[in-house]
Amino acid sequence: MVIAKAWVLKKHFDGFPKTSDFDLKEIELPNLKDGGEQKLLLASVFLSVDPYMRPYSRRLMKEGDIMIGTQVARTVESKNPAFAVGAFVVCDRGWRTHFISDGKDLRLLPSSWPESLPKSLALGTVGMPGLTAYFGLLEVCKMKPGETVLVNAAAGAVGSVVGQLAKIGGCKVVGCAGSDDKVAYLKKLGFDEAFNYKTVKSLDEALSKASPDGYDCFFDNVGGEFASVAINQMKKYGRIAVCGAISEYNDSVPQKGPYVQYPMIFKELQMEGFLVTRWNHRREEGLNALLKWVVEGKVKYHEQITEGFENMPMAFIGMLKGENIGKAVVKV
Ligand code: NDP
Repeated sequence: MVIAKAWVLKKHFDGFPKTSDFDLKEIELPNLKDGGEQKLLLASVFLSVDPYMRPYSRRLMKEGDIMIGTQVARTVESKNPAFAVGAFVVCDRGWRTHFISDGKDLRLLPSSWPESLPKSLALGTVGMPGLTAYFGLLEVCKMKPGETVLVNAAAGAVGSVVGQLAKIGGCKVVGCAGSDDKVAYLKKLGFDEAFNYKTVKSLDEALSKASPDGYDCFFDNVGGEFASVAINQMKKYGRIAVCGAISEYNDSVPQKGPYVQYPMIFKELQMEGFLVTRWNHRREEGLNALLKWVVEGKVKYHEQITEGFENMPMAFIGMLKGENIGKAVVKV
């Protein structure tokens, strides 16, 4: 018999999440059976902490529920021939160390996954955040060679892939991030221009200096004040992919900003919100493309790995504070 550990949402977040909003529980798992749904025992190896957990906790969860989230897990016991003992899978079973499955909710890592590549990348560059960058740029921004792309939270899981894919696509890339170390990382990744939005005197001037002609595409991970300033620097017929609004997720009272109609009308802009799940039917295409670029060294990655399942709340809070370069992951 296995006792799983799980983090539950003790209290809905009010403002910035606190460690006291979480509780660590133990759950006794049943033994596997030949028939029925208890066919596989899995152990989480890497767990993802993502910004969406903050707004979705309110939308999807009630107090006492296990925190939502995705993990890379290893098959420990199997009565399902499709999953050998030792097989690695990706699944959305929340913040828990072990769980039982019938196999239907499990996705095997791509068969071409090289042994030398960390499996945790299936939660980042070759996982949901990478797919968000891929489909957001191709299908929402519709970037074309020679264009200028702006991305914020640029050193994070999604943003760092956005910048690199835009370079592969023949664009000029400008990235903004919240520390000098992050800016140095962006330069290392090949961003044409990068600056620390926290230390520039004027965001407006910094954006204008980085691209005096303005921006064709804006991949917005942040929303709020940043987006209100950046929209005025778009070129005519520019496209804005509204991916995330992390600057607003912890607000107890919604921010009010300038209205978007003037720049939208006079620059004839397109602004489209999206969820990466829209392209679930093309997941394989996206993952294969990302995996190929990573293996070829054309897309580089960095992971912020926190050791220990007991540190999940701290890793989540740290990511929301901007402590991560690249993808924030917890290793059990
Ligand atoms: P990141 O790895 O980028 O981590 C979050 C980063 O956000 C932090 O490192 C920090 O970077 C930045 N940040 C935090 N607070 C603020 C703030 N108040 N103002 C500005 N920046 C802030 O996370 P992801 O790459 O996983 O996600 C990036 C965005 O994409 C999020 O908004 C997320 O919700 C969204 N997303 C949307 C998806 C979709 O389907 N639409 C799917 C996946 C993600 P810094 O130090 O640079 O400020």
